[in-house]
Amino acid sequence: MKSLIHGLFLDELTAVIREMDAPAFRAKQIWHWLYEQRITTWDAMKNLPTELRAKLAERFELTPARALEITGTEDEARKILVGLGDGECVEEVLLPSGDRRTVCVSSQVGCKFACAFCASGQAGYKRNLLAGEIVGEVLLAAAVWGDRPGNIVFMGVGEPFDNYDNVLRAIRILNHPDGLGIGARRITLSTCGVIPGIQRLAEEGLQLELSLSLHAPDTATRGQLMPVNRRYPLADVLAACKAYAEKTKRIITFEYTLVRGVNDSPAQAEDLARLLAPLPARVNLIPLSPVEGFEGEPTPPETARQFIRTLERAGINATLRDSQGSRIKAACGQLRIRRLATT
Ligand code: SAH
Repeated sequence: MKSLIHGLFLDELTAVIREMDAPAFRAKQIWHWLYEQRITTWDAMKNLPTELRAKLAERFELTPARALEITGTEDEARKILVGLGDGECVEEVLLPSGDRRTVCVSSQVGCKFACAFCASGQAGYKRNLLAGEIVGEVLLAAAVWGDRPGNIVFMGVGEPFDNYDNVLRAIRILNHPDGLGIGARRITLSTCGVIPGIQRLAEEGLQLELSLSLHAPDTATRGQLMPVNRRYPLADVLAACKAYAEKTKRIITFEYTLVRGVNDSPAQAEDLARLLAPLPARVNLIPLSPVEGFEGEPTPPETARQFIRTLERAGINATLRDSQGSRIKAACGQLRIRRLATT
């Protein structure tokens, strides 16, 4: 497989261009075609000499990802089944909300972490996405919308901190003013609690948003839902979050998927509030999206509202994510699983 041109930093591309005996400014012109014009053929790079275009085409792949299937209509959440160069696929979700366009991208083909209610882990883990493939997902969203997304969330298939280097490389390309120019504060990394990733991110000097998938206020319940809790126990994860918040001065969002009778009692809401009190935290409650192979049921809306009220009374800011995604099977991994089942 040729390497992906979308995986290169501007200075790396500049070095390549120099090697090809072309002037350095060509690299900026190429980035302009890639990220401003978002062209899909080498021939479209009209201000480049034909010979340089031919050399680039020989060395680089220009199509990091393809849309194999798009579900949903323009004004609702849409899901794209994303085909990669080696025949693997992942998925991404496009969430329009007023004039905000958010794209939810995948970071790995499959996932190793096997959270009980998550479809991504069910099909096992195949490989990491390359940085260029992650950039490619965002470009596919831009192609569907005819404009670049305003926000990016890493909440598709995979664990971003298990593919740390490629994810951060993609983020730096997407964030670069000559790249897509998407602000760091508009990029959210969501983790199941991989502590080394949280610690490294604190040192990057980037104003990224961190989301932590918590799902339970005590280690027994969390361990039942998330096997990762054995390797990175709740108390250690929270300590890492606290250090992250102190270092970056950022508020951390805690994701909490409500499962009926498992983690949605008033006592658990109180425990959660106590647990998060020492942190600059907000809670994002997620309605469970039913997944085959997981027995749990969604929490009834009234119980969810009560859970929020308990958190708010204790001074914790909480919101209930709307479930527009569930109609299009947006819970992570669901489209990929269907695809695997039919091929
Ligand atoms: N691996 C990362 C990001 C991917 S999942 C992480 O764990 O954070 C994004 C969020 O969706 C996580 O909070 C995850 O726990 C949640 N999620 C996964 N499957 C779900 C389902 N069926 N219903 C509701 N939320 C789900």
